[in-house]
Amino acid sequence: MDTNSSLRALPSVDQLLRSELAVAAIERFGRSAVTEVLRDTVADLRRKVLQGHPIQASEIILDNLVASLEERERTTLRPLYNLTGTVLHTNLGRALLAETAIDAAVAAMRSAVSLEFDLESGKRGERDDHLRALICELTGAEDATVVNNNAAAVLLVLNSLAAGKEAIVSRGELIEIGGAFRMPDIMARAGARLVEVGTTNRTHKSDYANALGPDTGLILKVHTSNYRIEGFTKEVKPQELKDIAHKGAVPLVHDLGSGTLADLTPFGLAHEPTVREAIEEGADIVTFSGDKLLGGSQAGFIVGRKDLIQAINKNPMKRALRVDKIRMAALEATLKLYRDPERLSVRLPTMRLLSRSREEIGAQAQRLAPIVAKAVQGAFNVAVVDCASQIGSGALPLATVPSAGLALTALDGGGSALEELSAALRRLPVPVIGRIERGSLVLDLRCLEDDAAFAANIAGLDLRAGQAGGNSQS
Ligand SMILES: *Cc1c(COP(=O)(O)O)cnc(C)c1O
Repeated sequence: MDTNSSLRALPSVDQLLRSELAVAAIERFGRSAVTEVLRDTVADLRRKVLQGHPIQASEIILDNLVASLEERERTTLRPLYNLTGTVLHTNLGRALLAETAIDAAVAAMRSAVSLEFDLESGKRGERDDHLRALICELTGAEDATVVNNNAAAVLLVLNSLAAGKEAIVSRGELIEIGGAFRMPDIMARAGARLVEVGTTNRTHKSDYANALGPDTGLILKVHTSNYRIEGFTKEVKPQELKDIAHKGAVPLVHDLGSGTLADLTPFGLAHEPTVREAIEEGADIVTFSGDKLLGGSQAGFIVGRKDLIQAINKNPMKRALRVDKIRMAALEATLKLYRDPERLSVRLPTMRLLSRSREEIGAQAQRLAPIVAKAVQGAFNVAVVDCASQIGSGALPLATVPSAGLALTALDGGGSALEELSAALRRLPVPVIGRIERGSLVLDLRCLEDDAAFAANIAGLDLRAGQAGGNSQS
């Protein structure tokens, strides 16, 4: 057959659309989507025929149709198994919400709500009213507001209290949180002039006191969330900073980062400063995240002195940084769990995952080892190992929590075997994300709570698909 007659032999989009399979696909995905995919497919086939490839039967074309349509439909925001050992993994969406928070968010999504409406007076209400009393109760602060995230909280506080003025920060606390969140840059965008004091490892009271002047807007203390300076060091405690700030009649702002509302020591973790402590130590404003240790949705809390919170609320930027009703509902439900601290480790997923014992996770690893061994079909050795989980998101950066998991080691020692295994795990219907460590792929089971679903999912592991090329998502 010459090229022209081959091209003529290609089925038309209209012909394909009339086929039984296409009619069923239209029912499922809609006519536009099916037409679009078929048009692309036929155009692709024309190109191939022109390059001398044989034409494909209509059956093959239609077989691929449903797979292509399903691929198009699938969300790119994929639910997955976080077996990295980092409980609050920023790239994997940080805290999992409590069931009560999920229910509250869903209810708020479905319905009109009294977001800024006072049901008693029938007049306009305030968005912050839903959380203010609760946050104050839990932290001992006078007043509170909430914005998009803690980065927004810091930006808004600096802009409201120190625009056109100086903000004094220790050189040991000029942090980069990751991505574009660097304290000096945020400072500049907020319109505040950064005044660095002290040195990287040591800052004294006199450094702050000497920097204080008529142009000072505030003193900023930053919790060194994601690193530690150790050895010959000196930092000025908030209690001492408070006195210096107040002598200069400027507020002390404490960016706690993660911040926590509950003491973590009962969970076997080191002490992370609580928001209540930061307030008691004399900070006038404290900022912290909603989706780090607090275990809620993404948010930034600003708590502290009433007059300062009022000034912050008057800033037009506040409107650009506010949170919607869905997160408001989730945050309220999350905060309410803190009224019952004894049951936090059951009801709040972040605490539940962090408080799982090594023994419990070890037993789970023993149960799952044969299931994972079967899924990798003898290509990898599967061993139960001790490992160390991290909290993540900059909370207690050096602290690890003893955990257990499965270490998968390649039997033929091929250099790329672990990368290929990782890729195959990522191709699963629910991708499994582990971490490569000293020649093995480790699956830390701390964050795995549904063994049956995990077993059913991993049974579909296909180690070969990636090597054929083309299909790999990595
Ligand atoms: C995490 C963190 C931030 C940023 O908080 P997000 O909620 O991620 O915006 C700011 N400051 C400190 C000290 C942090 O640890």
